[in-house]
Amino acid sequence: MRIIRSPKQMFEVSQKLKKRGCRTGLVPTMGALHKGHLSLIRRAAQENDKVVVSIFVNPIQFGPKEDFRRYPRNLKKDALLCRNENADFIFYPSAALMYPPGFRTQVSVRELSDVLCGAYRPGHFQGVTTVVAKLFNIVMPDTAYFGQKDAQQALIIQRMAKDLDMPVKIRVMPIIREKDGLAMSSRNAYLDSAQREKAAVLYQALNKARESVKSGIADCALLTKRARATIIKNKPRKIDYISIVDMETLEPVKKIKDKALLALAVWFGNTRLIDNVILKR
Ligand code: AMP
Repeated sequence: MRIIRSPKQMFEVSQKLKKRGCRTGLVPTMGALHKGHLSLIRRAAQENDKVVVSIFVNPIQFGPKEDFRRYPRNLKKDALLCRNENADFIFYPSAALMYPPGFRTQVSVRELSDVLCGAYRPGHFQGVTTVVAKLFNIVMPDTAYFGQKDAQQALIIQRMAKDLDMPVKIRVMPIIREKDGLAMSSRNAYLDSAQREKAAVLYQALNKARESVKSGIADCALLTKRARATIIKNKPRKIDYISIVDMETLEPVKKIKDKALLALAVWFGNTRLIDNVILKR
């Protein structure tokens, strides 16, 4: 496994792989890898000849008061994990090489980027789509792997790839959870033990909603009210949103007809956690 730090070098390697007819899978990450990331890498290794894992804590997707500086970074450990999953390359660029002086371009997916997390993290998704577009151009993957954990992000990237005719297939993989149901996240490391215990309530609330829908409840106001009540019992610091939205447009849904996405963002201490579940009748 090779670690490549220069975008130019990564591009040259990708070109060679293409010429040789290799199928390439890309797994974009910010590092501090956990089993959620590893499930994407594993799938990429099954479906491709070569796997590139990008590790880049992308400054332009963080707001000025967000956790860019304290975001966990551990290349040594990540490299071991990637090697164990049979990744072939880690693309580990610096911000200076990704955004050299004079950089001016932004990729933006309208509307989908302005709701849910986008409403609370202005500019976040533009940062994500811009870096992912760059990664697609540098690595030229046949398939790129994303997690349903970040459902809005996955949808926005699918939209971007379609709208801009990017020749890449987007694969969205299921959420990997801890034993108590908490969705795995690099940010879970910020939680102290009391917060960590409380955070399990998010999955409980999502699960309850899923069961309620199965048992015939379709009223979204009622479903979100109950989810909120469940979560509040564990005294989160703040609830950004608990919303039931259309799976494609992310517009609010009043009544569940077939399927909808229940998504939430909740703070425990200084840690903002997101999670979601697909509600099916
Ligand atoms: P991140 O490093 O947090 O930017 O995540 C990189 C990729 O891993 C994204 O596509 C995430 O959606 C995905 N991912 C993160 N956590 C999980 C999880 N618990 N289960 C599945 N995929 C995940």
